[in-house]
Amino acid sequence: MARPISSASELLCYPFSAMSRLNLLDYPPLELESVAESLGAPRYRGRQIATWLYAKGATDITAMSDLPREFRSALSERAEVAVPEIERRTPSQDGSQKLVLRLGDGARIQSVLMPDEDRLTLCVSTQVGCGFGCAFCFTGTMGLERNLTPGEIVGQVVAARRILPDGARITHLVYMGMGEPLANYAATIQSLRILTDPKAFGFSPRRITVSTVGLVSGIERLANENVKVNLAISLHATSNQIRNRIMPVNKGFSIEELLEACRGFPVAFRQRITFEYVLLDHVNDAAEDARRLVRLLKGIRAKVNLIPFNDWEGSGFQRPPLQRILAFQSLLLEAGIRTTVRWSKGEDIGAACGQLKEALTA
Ligand code: SAH
Ligand code: SF4
Repeated sequence: MARPISSASELLCYPFSAMSRLNLLDYPPLELESVAESLGAPRYRGRQIATWLYAKGATDITAMSDLPREFRSALSERAEVAVPEIERRTPSQDGSQKLVLRLGDGARIQSVLMPDEDRLTLCVSTQVGCGFGCAFCFTGTMGLERNLTPGEIVGQVVAARRILPDGARITHLVYMGMGEPLANYAATIQSLRILTDPKAFGFSPRRITVSTVGLVSGIERLANENVKVNLAISLHATSNQIRNRIMPVNKGFSIEELLEACRGFPVAFRQRITFEYVLLDHVNDAAEDARRLVRLLKGIRAKVNLIPFNDWEGSGFQRPPLQRILAFQSLLLEAGIRTTVRWSKGEDIGAACGQLKEALTA
Protein backbone atom coordinates (compact mmCIF):
# COMPACT_ATOMS: atom_id res chain seq x y z
CA MET A 1 0.00 0.00 0.00
CA ALA A 2 1.25 3.47 -0.82
CA ARG A 3 2.59 5.34 2.17
CA PRO A 4 2.16 9.11 2.40
CA ILE A 5 5.46 10.98 2.23
CA SER A 6 5.60 13.94 4.54
CA SER A 7 8.80 15.75 3.59
CA ALA A 8 11.22 16.13 0.73
CA SER A 9 14.10 14.79 2.83
CA GLU A 10 12.15 11.62 3.51
CA LEU A 11 12.02 11.01 -0.22
CA LEU A 12 15.76 10.65 -0.36
CA CYS A 13 16.31 7.84 2.13
CA TYR A 14 14.42 4.94 0.46
CA PRO A 15 13.12 3.44 3.69
CA PHE A 16 12.74 -0.20 2.65
CA SER A 17 10.70 -1.95 5.28
CA ALA A 18 8.72 -5.12 5.65
CA MET A 19 5.60 -3.07 6.39
CA SER A 20 5.27 -1.10 3.20
CA ARG A 21 6.73 -1.34 -0.26
CA LEU A 22 8.04 1.69 -2.12
CA ASN A 23 5.90 2.96 -4.94
CA LEU A 24 8.37 3.45 -7.81
CA LEU A 25 6.12 6.19 -9.22
CA ASP A 26 7.22 8.35 -6.27
CA TYR A 27 10.66 8.86 -7.81
CA PRO A 28 12.23 10.72 -10.73
CA PRO A 29 14.89 8.85 -12.77
CA LEU A 30 17.85 10.12 -10.74
CA GLU A 31 16.32 8.82 -7.52
CA LEU A 32 15.44 5.50 -9.18
CA GLU A 33 19.19 5.18 -9.83
CA SER A 34 19.75 5.52 -6.08
CA VAL A 35 17.02 2.96 -5.42
CA ALA A 36 18.87 0.54 -7.73
CA GLU A 37 22.17 1.31 -6.02
CA SER A 38 20.72 0.72 -2.56
CA LEU A 39 19.80 -2.79 -3.75
CA GLY A 40 23.40 -3.42 -4.81
CA ALA A 41 22.82 -2.90 -8.56
CA PRO A 42 24.63 -0.39 -10.81
CA ARG A 43 22.95 3.03 -11.11
CA TYR A 44 22.07 2.58 -14.80
CA ARG A 45 19.55 -0.06 -13.75
CA GLY A 46 17.54 2.85 -12.31
CA ARG A 47 17.46 4.49 -15.75
CA GLN A 48 16.17 1.26 -17.24
CA ILE A 49 13.41 1.16 -14.61
CA ALA A 50 12.51 4.77 -15.50
CA THR A 51 12.13 3.83 -19.18
CA TRP A 52 9.82 0.97 -18.28
CA LEU A 53 7.73 3.09 -15.96
CA TYR A 54 7.44 6.36 -17.79
CA ALA A 55 8.05 5.65 -21.47
CA LYS A 56 6.45 2.22 -21.70
CA GLY A 57 3.85 2.61 -18.93
CA ALA A 58 4.83 -0.77 -17.45
CA THR A 59 3.52 -1.74 -14.02
CA ASP A 60 4.78 -5.31 -13.64
CA ILE A 61 8.34 -5.30 -12.27
CA THR A 62 8.84 -8.98 -13.07
CA ALA A 63 8.16 -8.25 -16.75
CA MET A 64 10.96 -5.65 -17.04
CA SER A 65 12.85 -8.06 -19.24
CA ASP A 66 16.20 -6.27 -19.62
CA LEU A 67 16.80 -6.32 -15.84
CA PRO A 68 18.58 -9.37 -14.33
CA ARG A 69 16.15 -11.87 -12.87
CA GLU A 70 17.56 -11.66 -9.30
CA PHE A 71 17.40 -7.88 -9.37
CA ARG A 72 13.79 -8.00 -10.54
CA SER A 73 12.82 -10.30 -7.70
CA ALA A 74 14.75 -8.25 -5.08
CA LEU A 75 13.09 -5.12 -6.40
CA SER A 76 9.58 -6.53 -6.44
CA GLU A 77 9.99 -7.71 -2.85
CA ARG A 78 10.64 -4.16 -1.77
CA ALA A 79 8.85 -2.05 -4.33
CA GLU A 80 5.75 -1.91 -6.50
CA VAL A 81 4.19 0.24 -9.19
CA ALA A 82 0.94 1.39 -7.62
CA VAL A 83 -1.37 3.02 -10.17
CA PRO A 84 -4.76 4.33 -8.98
CA GLU A 85 -7.56 2.14 -10.25
CA ILE A 86 -10.17 3.75 -12.48
CA GLU A 87 -13.39 2.88 -10.76
CA ARG A 88 -15.75 4.92 -12.89
CA ARG A 89 -15.59 6.94 -16.10
CA THR A 90 -18.31 9.49 -16.77
CA PRO A 91 -18.31 11.16 -20.17
CA SER A 92 -19.83 14.62 -20.47
CA GLN A 93 -21.78 16.00 -23.42
CA ASP A 94 -18.99 18.55 -23.97
CA GLY A 95 -16.38 15.81 -24.55
CA SER A 96 -14.74 15.94 -21.13
CA GLN A 97 -14.57 12.85 -18.99
CA LYS A 98 -14.57 12.51 -15.22
CA LEU A 99 -12.46 9.69 -13.78
CA VAL A 100 -13.13 8.45 -10.27
CA LEU A 101 -9.93 6.83 -9.04
CA ARG A 102 -9.53 4.46 -6.12
CA LEU A 103 -6.26 4.65 -4.20
CA GLY A 104 -4.45 1.86 -2.35
CA ASP A 105 -6.18 2.61 0.96
CA GLY A 106 -9.65 2.79 -0.62
CA ALA A 107 -9.77 6.61 -0.70
CA ARG A 108 -11.24 8.11 -3.84
CA ILE A 109 -10.16 11.11 -5.87
CA GLN A 110 -11.13 12.54 -9.24
CA SER A 111 -9.28 13.57 -12.36
CA VAL A 112 -10.90 15.19 -15.38
CA LEU A 113 -9.83 14.80 -19.03
CA MET A 114 -10.73 17.88 -21.08
CA PRO A 115 -10.26 17.90 -24.85
CA ASP A 116 -10.21 21.30 -26.54
CA GLU A 117 -9.28 21.71 -30.21
CA ASP A 118 -5.68 20.47 -30.43
CA ARG A 119 -5.22 20.20 -26.66
CA LEU A 120 -5.97 17.44 -24.23
CA THR A 121 -5.74 18.67 -20.64
CA LEU A 122 -5.79 16.49 -17.55
CA CYS A 123 -6.91 18.10 -14.30
CA VAL A 124 -5.28 16.33 -11.34
CA SER A 125 -6.00 16.20 -7.61
CA THR A 126 -3.35 16.69 -4.92
CA GLN A 127 -5.28 15.82 -1.76
CA VAL A 128 -8.21 13.67 -0.71
CA GLY A 129 -10.68 16.45 0.10
CA CYS A 130 -9.47 19.91 1.07
CA GLY A 131 -9.12 21.73 4.37
CA PHE A 132 -9.52 25.33 3.20
CA GLY A 133 -13.30 25.48 3.27
CA CYS A 134 -13.93 28.10 0.57
CA ALA A 135 -17.64 28.85 0.86
CA PHE A 136 -18.47 28.33 -2.83
CA CYS A 137 -16.51 25.06 -3.30
CA PHE A 138 -18.13 21.65 -2.97
CA THR A 139 -14.76 19.91 -2.44
CA GLY A 140 -14.27 22.20 0.56
CA THR A 141 -17.28 20.64 2.31
CA MET A 142 -15.40 17.31 2.55
CA GLY A 143 -12.65 18.64 4.80
CA LEU A 144 -9.14 17.28 4.40
CA GLU A 145 -8.79 13.52 4.58
CA ARG A 146 -5.12 13.22 3.62
CA ASN A 147 -2.37 14.36 1.28
CA LEU A 148 -1.63 12.43 -1.89
CA THR A 149 1.84 10.97 -2.41
CA PRO A 150 3.87 12.04 -5.47
CA GLY A 151 3.14 8.62 -6.98
CA GLU A 152 -0.59 9.12 -6.51
CA ILE A 153 -0.42 12.47 -8.32
CA VAL A 154 1.73 11.07 -11.15
CA GLY A 155 -0.41 7.91 -11.10
CA GLN A 156 -3.42 9.93 -12.28
CA VAL A 157 -1.52 10.68 -15.49
CA VAL A 158 -0.50 7.02 -15.85
CA ALA A 159 -4.09 5.85 -15.33
CA ALA A 160 -5.57 8.43 -17.71
CA ARG A 161 -3.01 7.66 -20.45
CA ARG A 162 -4.13 4.04 -20.45
CA ILE A 163 -7.66 4.84 -21.54
CA LEU A 164 -6.80 7.27 -24.33
CA PRO A 165 -7.69 6.27 -27.87
CA ASP A 166 -4.76 5.33 -30.15
CA GLY A 167 -2.66 8.33 -31.11
CA ALA A 168 -4.16 10.63 -28.44
CA ARG A 169 -1.81 12.21 -25.93
CA ILE A 170 -2.21 14.41 -22.86
CA THR A 171 -0.73 17.79 -23.83
CA HIS A 172 -1.43 19.93 -20.76
CA LEU A 173 -1.77 19.39 -17.02
CA VAL A 174 -3.59 21.56 -14.51
CA TYR A 175 -3.35 21.08 -10.74
CA MET A 176 -6.96 22.13 -10.25
CA GLY A 177 -8.68 19.00 -9.01
CA MET A 178 -9.37 18.17 -5.38
CA GLY A 179 -7.15 19.75 -2.79
CA GLU A 180 -4.66 22.56 -2.43
CA PRO A 181 -1.35 21.77 -4.18
CA LEU A 182 0.77 24.13 -2.08
CA ALA A 183 -0.59 22.67 1.16
CA ASN A 184 0.92 19.36 0.00
CA TYR A 185 4.09 21.09 -1.06
CA ALA A 186 6.76 18.34 -1.05
CA ALA A 187 4.61 15.85 -2.98
CA THR A 188 3.47 18.50 -5.47
CA ILE A 189 7.06 19.52 -6.25
CA GLN A 190 8.23 15.92 -6.47
CA SER A 191 5.38 15.13 -8.90
CA LEU A 192 6.31 18.17 -11.01
CA ARG A 193 9.92 16.94 -11.16
CA ILE A 194 8.80 13.53 -12.39
CA LEU A 195 6.34 14.98 -14.91
CA THR A 196 8.83 17.46 -16.38
CA ASP A 197 11.94 15.23 -16.36
CA PRO A 198 12.83 14.50 -20.01
CA LYS A 199 13.78 10.95 -18.96
CA ALA A 200 10.35 10.45 -17.36
CA PHE A 201 7.20 12.10 -18.79
CA GLY A 202 8.97 15.07 -20.35
CA PHE A 203 6.08 17.57 -20.10
CA SER A 204 7.15 21.12 -20.81
CA PRO A 205 6.73 23.14 -17.58
CA ARG A 206 4.95 25.76 -19.71
CA ARG A 207 2.17 23.26 -20.25
CA ILE A 208 1.61 22.72 -16.56
CA THR A 209 -0.37 25.09 -14.33
CA VAL A 210 -0.51 24.90 -10.55
CA SER A 211 -3.53 26.61 -9.01
CA THR A 212 -3.43 27.84 -5.43
CA VAL A 213 -5.91 29.29 -2.97
CA GLY A 214 -3.18 31.85 -2.25
CA LEU A 215 -0.69 30.39 0.22
CA VAL A 216 1.91 33.15 0.23
CA SER A 217 4.73 31.09 1.77
CA GLY A 218 4.14 28.34 -0.79
CA ILE A 219 4.16 30.80 -3.69
CA GLU A 220 7.47 32.22 -2.44
CA ARG A 221 8.96 28.73 -2.19
CA LEU A 222 7.66 27.78 -5.62
CA ALA A 223 9.25 30.93 -7.08
CA ASN A 224 12.66 29.56 -6.08
CA GLU A 225 12.23 26.00 -7.36
CA ASN A 226 13.88 24.90 -10.55
CA VAL A 227 10.55 23.69 -11.97
CA LYS A 228 9.21 26.76 -13.77
CA VAL A 229 5.52 25.98 -14.08
CA ASN A 230 2.65 28.42 -14.62
CA LEU A 231 0.89 29.81 -11.60
CA ALA A 232 -2.84 30.35 -11.18
CA ILE A 233 -4.24 32.23 -8.20
CA SER A 234 -7.78 31.74 -6.91
CA LEU A 235 -8.48 35.38 -6.11
CA HIS A 236 -12.28 35.55 -6.26
CA ALA A 237 -12.69 38.89 -4.44
CA THR A 238 -11.33 42.42 -4.58
CA SER A 239 -11.71 43.45 -0.94
CA ASN A 240 -10.43 41.70 2.16
CA GLN A 241 -13.87 41.97 3.68
CA ILE A 242 -15.48 39.85 0.95
CA ARG A 243 -12.50 37.54 0.54
CA ASN A 244 -12.46 36.85 4.31
CA ARG A 245 -16.09 35.89 4.03
CA ILE A 246 -15.85 33.48 1.12
CA MET A 247 -12.24 32.27 1.54
CA PRO A 248 -11.16 31.77 5.17
CA VAL A 249 -7.49 31.55 4.03
CA ASN A 250 -7.60 35.32 3.51
CA LYS A 251 -7.56 35.83 7.28
CA GLY A 252 -4.00 34.47 7.23
CA PHE A 253 -2.78 36.12 4.01
CA SER A 254 -4.43 39.34 2.90
CA ILE A 255 -5.01 40.29 -0.74
CA GLU A 256 -2.13 42.79 -0.55
CA GLU A 257 0.34 40.16 0.74
CA LEU A 258 -0.86 37.70 -1.88
CA LEU A 259 -0.36 40.16 -4.75
CA GLU A 260 3.06 41.11 -3.40
CA ALA A 261 4.08 37.43 -3.61
CA CYS A 262 2.75 37.36 -7.19
CA ARG A 263 4.86 40.39 -8.10
CA GLY A 264 7.94 38.43 -6.94
CA PHE A 265 7.04 35.31 -8.92
CA PRO A 266 9.18 34.69 -12.02
CA VAL A 267 6.93 34.57 -15.06
CA ALA A 268 8.34 32.87 -18.16
CA PHE A 269 8.68 34.75 -21.45
CA ARG A 270 5.25 35.34 -23.03
CA GLN A 271 3.49 33.80 -20.02
CA ARG A 272 1.24 35.44 -17.44
CA ILE A 273 -0.06 34.63 -13.99
CA THR A 274 -3.68 33.54 -14.21
CA PHE A 275 -6.11 35.03 -11.72
CA GLU A 276 -9.19 32.88 -11.32
CA TYR A 277 -12.34 34.71 -10.33
CA VAL A 278 -15.52 32.77 -9.64
CA LEU A 279 -18.49 35.04 -10.34
CA LEU A 280 -21.07 34.87 -7.55
CA ASP A 281 -24.31 36.75 -8.05
CA HIS A 282 -24.39 39.96 -5.99
CA VAL A 283 -21.37 38.91 -3.94
CA ASN A 284 -18.34 39.86 -6.08
CA ASP A 285 -19.73 40.69 -9.52
CA ALA A 286 -20.43 44.45 -9.35
CA ALA A 287 -18.88 46.97 -11.72
CA GLU A 288 -17.00 48.37 -8.73
CA ASP A 289 -15.40 44.93 -8.20
CA ALA A 290 -14.21 44.88 -11.79
CA ARG A 291 -12.68 48.36 -11.41
CA ARG A 292 -10.98 47.39 -8.13
CA LEU A 293 -9.63 44.26 -9.81
CA VAL A 294 -8.05 46.37 -12.53
CA ARG A 295 -6.34 48.52 -9.88
CA LEU A 296 -5.14 45.49 -7.89
CA LEU A 297 -3.54 43.83 -10.91
CA LYS A 298 -1.55 46.91 -11.99
CA GLY A 299 2.10 46.01 -12.55
CA ILE A 300 1.48 42.23 -12.66
CA ARG A 301 1.71 40.27 -15.91
CA ALA A 302 -1.76 38.92 -15.39
CA LYS A 303 -4.64 37.36 -17.21
CA VAL A 304 -8.03 36.82 -15.67
CA ASN A 305 -10.12 33.72 -15.95
CA LEU A 306 -13.74 34.39 -14.97
CA ILE A 307 -15.54 31.24 -13.83
CA PRO A 308 -19.33 31.58 -13.67
CA PHE A 309 -20.26 29.82 -10.42
CA ASN A 310 -21.02 26.10 -10.82
CA ASP A 311 -23.96 25.38 -8.61
CA TRP A 312 -24.33 22.58 -6.08
CA GLU A 313 -27.20 21.85 -3.75
CA GLY A 314 -27.17 23.88 -0.57
CA SER A 315 -24.35 26.21 -1.66
CA GLY A 316 -26.28 29.41 -0.95
CA PHE A 317 -24.73 31.07 -4.03
CA GLN A 318 -26.00 31.71 -7.52
CA ARG A 319 -24.45 32.24 -10.91
CA PRO A 320 -24.95 35.81 -12.16
CA PRO A 321 -27.09 36.26 -15.28
CA LEU A 322 -25.16 36.20 -18.57
CA GLN A 323 -25.48 39.95 -19.03
CA ARG A 324 -23.70 40.64 -15.73
CA ILE A 325 -20.93 38.16 -16.54
CA LEU A 326 -20.28 39.80 -19.90
CA ALA A 327 -20.43 43.30 -18.41
CA PHE A 328 -17.79 42.31 -15.84
CA GLN A 329 -15.60 40.89 -18.60
CA SER A 330 -16.01 44.04 -20.73
CA LEU A 331 -14.77 46.30 -17.95
CA LEU A 332 -11.59 44.25 -17.62
CA LEU A 333 -11.05 44.06 -21.39
CA GLU A 334 -11.51 47.82 -21.71
CA ALA A 335 -8.77 48.29 -19.12
CA GLY A 336 -6.46 46.16 -21.29
CA ILE A 337 -6.54 43.01 -19.16
CA ARG A 338 -6.63 39.75 -21.07
CA THR A 339 -9.82 38.11 -19.79
CA THR A 340 -11.55 34.89 -20.68
CA VAL A 341 -14.74 33.35 -19.37
CA ARG A 342 -14.34 29.70 -18.48
CA TRP A 343 -17.58 27.98 -19.27
CA SER A 344 -16.68 24.99 -17.16
CA LYS A 345 -16.25 21.59 -18.65
CA GLY A 346 -18.17 18.64 -17.31
CA GLU A 347 -20.84 20.58 -15.47
CA ASP A 348 -23.50 17.98 -16.31
CA ILE A 349 -21.45 15.19 -14.67
CA GLY A 350 -20.32 17.04 -11.53
CA ALA A 351 -16.78 17.40 -12.89
CA ALA A 352 -16.65 21.18 -13.22
CA CYS A 353 -14.49 23.45 -11.07
CA GLY A 354 -15.56 23.18 -7.46
CA GLN A 355 -17.98 20.31 -8.03
CA LEU A 356 -15.56 17.51 -7.22
CA LYS A 357 -16.52 15.46 -4.23
CA GLU A 358 -16.43 11.72 -3.63
CA ALA A 359 -17.30 9.39 -0.82
CA LEU A 360 -13.96 8.89 0.90
CA THR A 361 -13.88 5.12 1.15
CA ALA A 362 -15.83 2.17 -0.12
N1 SAH B 1 -7.23 24.50 -4.27
C1 SAH B 1 -6.76 25.09 -5.45
C2 SAH B 1 -6.92 24.15 -6.62
C3 SAH B 1 -8.38 23.86 -6.98
S1 SAH B 1 -8.64 24.67 -8.45
C4 SAH B 1 -7.41 26.42 -5.68
O1 SAH B 1 -8.36 26.72 -4.98
O2 SAH B 1 -6.92 27.18 -6.51
C5 SAH B 1 -10.33 24.74 -8.62
C6 SAH B 1 -10.76 26.13 -9.09
O3 SAH B 1 -12.19 26.13 -9.15
C7 SAH B 1 -10.38 27.22 -8.10
O4 SAH B 1 -10.12 28.43 -8.74
C8 SAH B 1 -11.65 27.33 -7.29
O5 SAH B 1 -11.72 28.50 -6.58
C9 SAH B 1 -12.70 27.19 -8.36
N2 SAH B 1 -14.01 26.80 -7.81
C10 SAH B 1 -14.27 26.19 -6.65
N3 SAH B 1 -15.61 26.00 -6.51
C11 SAH B 1 -16.20 26.51 -7.60
C12 SAH B 1 -17.55 26.57 -8.05
N4 SAH B 1 -18.54 26.06 -7.35
N5 SAH B 1 -17.78 27.16 -9.25
C13 SAH B 1 -16.77 27.64 -10.00
N6 SAH B 1 -15.47 27.58 -9.63
C14 SAH B 1 -15.19 27.03 -8.45
FE1 SF4 C 1 -9.89 23.84 -1.42
FE2 SF4 C 1 -9.43 25.15 -3.71
FE3 SF4 C 1 -11.92 24.30 -3.06
FE4 SF4 C 1 -10.83 26.33 -1.71
S1 SF4 C 1 -11.36 26.27 -3.90
S2 SF4 C 1 -11.91 24.58 -0.80
S3 SF4 C 1 -8.69 25.68 -1.65
S4 SF4 C 1 -10.14 23.01 -3.51
